[in-house]
Amino acid sequence: MSLPPLSDRIAGVRDRIGRAARRAGRDPAGVRLIAVSKTRPPEAIEAAAAAGITDFGENRVQEAAAKLPRVAATFTPHLIGHLQKNKARVAVRLFPVIHSVDSVKLAARLSRIVTGGLAPPGGGPLRILVQVDLAGEATKFGVPEPELPATLDAVAALPGLDLQGLMLIPPHDPDPEAVRPWFARLREISVRFAGGGLLPDDPELSMGMSHDFEIAISEGATMVRVGTALFGPR
Ligand SMILES: *Cc1c(COP(=O)(O)O)cnc(C)c1O
Repeated sequence: MSLPPLSDRIAGVRDRIGRAARRAGRDPAGVRLIAVSKTRPPEAIEAAAAAGITDFGENRVQEAAAKLPRVAATFTPHLIGHLQKNKARVAVRLFPVIHSVDSVKLAARLSRIVTGGLAPPGGGPLRILVQVDLAGEATKFGVPEPELPATLDAVAALPGLDLQGLMLIPPHDPDPEAVRPWFARLREISVRFAGGGLLPDDPELSMGMSHDFEIAISEGATMVRVGTALFGPR
């Protein structure tokens, strides 16, 4: 089975994003498509950029360091995978946005790097999201819900960082409807923390992947991270 051309797949995903947003009474412009380009060669990124994609997601600093310098600097790379503290400096050099901040320690390290004079691409502050582990999955990264107030409080106070919202990788379920309550929960939490001043008024919600982004949009996602639906199976 051969895949339709990349530009058709991009148009198809954009169309589905638009319809999901309108069904939810939302402006489609309020949902940013992040094309997850992990494991894809630089040529795939260039091709997607030529077809109008502006935001790319990578989950490994090492892989991104090898290929991002080879592609045009006209787009925004997002780090969406776990970041080890010893790779924080390389990450700041490559990524203006990091979705996977999962501890105060990591945030403090990033803050020191930026205030120490290393600006992220396009200049500081470094935009960050705090990754949340709602299900208490031992195998997943993210801040457990009970620790969120103290974490957001500490992270919001760090100079050089712009805390923009929350990120979620829910427990995997082949049935996307089964994941809906996690998306709804992240949104509830974000509203509560925005009201309490620990998040901006309209916080970013990074949630939804190829098999469930429409449901995430109906529950308030502002950024969807889509890989296979755009680039094909990995
Ligand atoms: C790989 C990945 C995605 C994209 O997954 P697809 O199922 O290919 O759309 C989204 N978010 C994160 C954190 C990922 O690692």
